[in-house]
This record gives sequence, C-alpha cells and structure tokens, in this order.
Amino acid sequence: MTAFDLKIEHATVITVDRERRIIKDGAVGIKGDRIAAVDQAAALAAAPAARTIDAAGRLVLPGLVSAHCHNVQALARGLGDDVPVELWTYGRIYPYESLLTEEDAYWSTLLNCAEMIRTGTTCHADPGGYVMDGVGRALTECGMRGTFAWAGMDEFPKGYAPPADFPGRKTTEETLAANEHLVKRWHKTANDRVRVSYGLRLEPNVSDELFQGVKACAERDHTLVQFHCLLAGLSDAVKEKTGMSTVQWMAGLGVLGPNWLLAHMADASDSDVVIVRAHDAKVAHSPGASMHSTYGAASRGKVPEMIERGVTVGLGCDSTAANNSLDMFRAMHQVATVHKEVRLVPDLIRPEKALEMATIDGARALGWDAEIGSLEVGKRADLIVVDTRRPNWVPMHDFSIVANLVYAGEGADVEMTMVDGRVLMESRRLTTIDVDRVLAEGQRIAERIVKSLPYQESLSPRWPVR
Ligand SMILES: [Zn+2]
Repeated sequence: MTAFDLKIEHATVITVDRERRIIKDGAVGIKGDRIAAVDQAAALAAAPAARTIDAAGRLVLPGLVSAHCHNVQALARGLGDDVPVELWTYGRIYPYESLLTEEDAYWSTLLNCAEMIRTGTTCHADPGGYVMDGVGRALTECGMRGTFAWAGMDEFPKGYAPPADFPGRKTTEETLAANEHLVKRWHKTANDRVRVSYGLRLEPNVSDELFQGVKACAERDHTLVQFHCLLAGLSDAVKEKTGMSTVQWMAGLGVLGPNWLLAHMADASDSDVVIVRAHDAKVAHSPGASMHSTYGAASRGKVPEMIERGVTVGLGCDSTAANNSLDMFRAMHQVATVHKEVRLVPDLIRPEKALEMATIDGARALGWDAEIGSLEVGKRADLIVVDTRRPNWVPMHDFSIVANLVYAGEGADVEMTMVDGRVLMESRRLTTIDVDRVLAEGQRIAERIVKSLPYQESLSPRWPVR
C-alpha cells in the first residue's frame, strides 16, 4: 500500500508552521488533497509513494495567498496607469467593467489565474464585480483556490457615481439578492476550493442599510465580507457625509467583525487601527497597487502599526489595472522594503514577516487558516516548489534562506504549483489552463473592449509606435 500519492524529497522545506521550522533535506508527503507528512527526507525514505520527485536545490513552501486580487480586471491592464484614484475608478475601470460579458469574465479569470499559478499564488480573495458566474466557472475549471463576491453598491452621490448603465448600479435589495445568488451557486463548491464572500465596493457608494444587510447575510451564511476601505481620495466622501472616518462609521453601525477583510486601509489613523484590532477585522495590504496608484498606504498609512498591535494583515497584488503585476514575490519585496524606507527603520518589516503575510497571515485574513497557509499534516496540499539553482539565489546560507526568497526571489523561480493536491504547474508548464488560447482570447477581448471605451483618446502611446 502506498503511503503517499506524491512525495517531494530532498528540498529545503519552509513550513511556516507554529515553530516556523525550516527543514533542510526535507520531504513532504501528499495523500489525496491533504498533506500527510512533513519531515526530514531520511525519516520518510522508506515510506512508499506512487510518485517521488527529487527536489534537491529547491525550496518547498506553502502556496502564496493573495489577499486582494480582481479577476475581472485582468483585461484592463494598461487602462488605469498614472491617473488619480477617482479617475481610475469612475472614469476608467467602471466604463471597462460595463462592457464585460460573463464570457469575458471567464477568460479574464483564466488569464488572471495563469499569472498567479505561474508565480506561486494558490489562493486569492477577489472583491468581485458583476459578471461573477463567469469567474466561478473559470475558478472551478482551472483548479485555483479563492473566494469572490458581488461588489455591492447602492448609493451614488455626485462626483462618485458610476455610469448610468453600470451593472453594479442597483438598489439595496437587488444588491443583496445578487450576492446571495452567488453564495447559493458557488459557496463551498469544488471540494471547498471555491468560496463566495459578501462584498462592498467603495466607501462613497455604501448606505447604512447595505452595510447592515451585508453583515446579517454574511453571519447567516458564514462568509467573509470584502470591502475597499480608507483609500486616500475616496474616504473624504464619507468624512463629509458622516463627520467620521469610514472605520469609525462602521464601528458605530455595529457591523465590523472578524469576518471583515478591509482592503487597503491606506488612509488609516491610529484610532482606526485601534478599532480594527478591537473587532479583530482583517486587512489586505497591496503595496504594489498603493505605489502604482498612489493610495498612500506607505507614505500615510499605518501598516507597521497594525502589525505591531496584532492586526492580521494579509498581502495582495490587487488587479492588473492597479499594480499591474500579480507576482506575490514582488509584493513580498515591496512590503519588506517600502515601509522601512519611508520610516527610515531598516528592520521594520523583516523578510520573515513578509513571508508570513503572504502565507499564514493571508490565510487567516481570509478565514482559511485551519486549512491552508502552512505546511502541516492534515492541511490542504497547497504548495509551491521554488528553484534556487539560479544566479539570483547564490550564495544562500542558513541565515539568508528567507531573505533570499523575499529580497532576491521572483515569481519566475517557481517551477511547480499545487492546489488541493492537484498539480496546476509542473516544470513551469500549466496543466489546467491552455495558456496560448487564454493569451489569444485575452488580447482579442481587450482589443474589442478598448474600441468601445469612451476615453480612447486618453490611451494613445506617448512614444511613436510604428
Ligand atoms: Zn481592489
């Protein structure tokens, strides 16, 4: 009888378990969708396996968790560069999303997932859109783990209103019903690999009633709530309306709780951090998006203070229209470097913390840490194999394994990606996604959409293209 379906041996195993063990010449045994053993290779040498991979010269680590990533925006790469966040949102991305069909969302999601799988991301939180059945279908097919939402909105004040034909423009009741439809159809499907969250889009567009409706539905259905919160430029609208910060306002409504995942929190104050901690709400920090799109998370935000005070902060890449890369290795490098530069504190967020944010902390932020986020017996087999036999990894000492990963590693170093015990990439070849087809469809759909955008004249090349 075989002990394991697959044994990966002779690798350096970064477990991110409670003791944060790093096992040199280690091995991981996988049975079905679970991790069945994590130990020294010698200790598992006699254990029979249907298949054994010699991973000498590689790292094995938990699959990376992107705590914030928009599947439907994958075809908007390049549409939102170098503009203020209000224009990015209401002038650039909402018109793009108005043109998306369910079929477009399907291909957009496959493109998004191809990039994530290739660079070692195995789970993500998608704050959603309005063609989410296409997203659910693509996630089911391609093997990626994730949770997605209807991006709810029900208030449209002057200056913060999407176009009249915007598919997210609905009443409170319609918004809740649309999200409930997704929960009924997709939540905890595909062996609990695909989940649904409740979602709220942006702070100027959410009424008290929608906040309270989403809280009640999420508690009833045991789901996460995803909400973009405290973005410089957008949080002012809430201050004008309520005289409070968005976080104070939510606390006053009694809606905040441990199942709330607040994306960005870029414009947070010390009192916002205290409130978030008191309610055990979680935060998704996307440093690349903040730097690309000037949200203020590094220059004004409180990410180091949140971590210091025990707030769970996951790491995200946000969307290819806002970052524009989904490589979590870049995100780890960014979070470990940008805050220390701004504060001039060289050990402010160490590489080990950056890796925790990309794995176990991200899993906790999504309410998924009992199942994923570390390599431990009984957890789901979500892992990646990273090749260190490359110039950017040498030399590597025992004291610099994690530093090399965060400061010198890149997504292209990932050679194998596994989710739920299923290999989604091996020898850098994707097994569940026809990449050539996805690239062709993605380019074709994006060109069709660009032809219909009302701001085409803003997209002309700055340098002559012949
Ligand atoms: Zn977002």
